[in-house]
Amino acid sequence: MSQGPTPTPQPTGTPPPQPSGKYCPCTRCRSRGLMGPAILITVGVLFLIPQFVHRLDFGDLWPVILIVIGAVKLFEYGASTEGHRG
Ligand SMILES: [Zn+2]
Repeated sequence: MSQGPTPTPQPTGTPPPQPSGKYCPCTRCRSRGLMGPAILITVGVLFLIPQFVHRLDFGDLWPVILIVIGAVKLFEYGASTEGHRG
């Protein structure tokens, strides 16, 4: 087994621990739930931008969704599994 060093980017401000025992409190598992909302917000913003900037349309902006998915995946990959519950 080869395990590289795991970088642990610390987000500013730590959210309070979840009282429920159902969800794993580790950063990696919590960051997984970030993907859905992040994509929804991004798609919403991408539809909104052409309303204000008329030379841009969704056809120009959709790759941003891929960037956001990649960024969330990267964050998830580097997130700490401290306190992980299997
Ligand atoms: Zn976990």
